[in-house]
Amino acid sequence: LAKGRGRARYEIFDDDLRTRIHQRLDSELALRDAVELGEIETWYQPIVDLQQNTVVATEALARWRRPARGVIQPGDFIAIAEEVGLIKQIGTEVLGQACRAANALERGMAVSVNVSARQFVQDDFGQVVKRALDESGLPPEQLWLELTESAVLEAIDSAAKTFQELRGLGVRLAIDDFGTGYSSFTHLRAFTVDLLKIDLTFIRDLERSQHDRAIVEGILRLADSLHVDVVAEGIETTNQRDLLKAMGCRFGQGYLFSKPAPSVQPMVQFVH
Ligand code: C2E
Ligand code: MG
Ligand code: MG
Ligand code: MG
Repeated sequence: LAKGRGRARYEIFDDDLRTRIHQRLDSELALRDAVELGEIETWYQPIVDLQQNTVVATEALARWRRPARGVIQPGDFIAIAEEVGLIKQIGTEVLGQACRAANALERGMAVSVNVSARQFVQDDFGQVVKRALDESGLPPEQLWLELTESAVLEAIDSAAKTFQELRGLGVRLAIDDFGTGYSSFTHLRAFTVDLLKIDLTFIRDLERSQHDRAIVEGILRLADSLHVDVVAEGIETTNQRDLLKAMGCRFGQGYLFSKPAPSVQPMVQFVH
């Protein structure tokens, strides 16, 4: 009996694994054609000036609209795209869409685009960015590029050259999810960036945690000394917004202001 039950359980696990492998292969295959079929979309979430209550920029966030499956979140396809070598194509598509959308907006609105390590290490990444700017007509200072700390670290050898190229173009560089990567300070020492985006895990418990407030205050003070602007990610409550504003944090982003949406929201004033 015990043996039978054990075997049955094993088969259930086996079926489950087989299903997951099948789904993953299916996604890989479908992802190969996604760009050509126009299934990669860019959604946008505003970045707000907390002190002025205005929208200063919008973050471009990739979505995959799969026929008969609906909208797939980046958490479910970016990692696959990176592993199977499709991230360059997808990233270039999102960059192009984002630059065109931002250029069609009111003057002065910036767009912030996520760049994965796999894109950043490509020798021609500077060229890809230049082409996106030229083709859209977007002024370089209105393009922000968000790199994660791992992106910078993985590319440490070629990073200096790419950084110089991007600096030469005049785009603004941001470190995304700041505080979650390892040796954050090494990167601040090695590279000049314009913005730090404080990871939402530090914002979540801001009201309750004295500890998290101390960390955020420390990041703000450091950023101030380095003349780097700060964006707090994941602001969901007015209390969090008020605390960050009082701490002198310049920019914020989160569901309190808006969830990501399929088109760029106009430059509205936020009164909460
Ligand atoms: P990220 O760049 O750190 O983007 C912030 C994520 O937090 C977004 O999830 C956004 O929808 C979510 N978010 C914003 N405000 C709030 C909030 O108030 N509360 C909570 N709980 N979440 C909030 P999303 O769109 O699912 O993107 C997830 C990640 O996927 C991004 O994290 C980014 O690392 C990656 N990603 C998205 N688009 C691209 C892309 O075009 N290229 C690359 N390489 N990565 C991308
Ligand atoms: Mg980001
Ligand atoms: Mg982030
Ligand atoms: Mg993130």
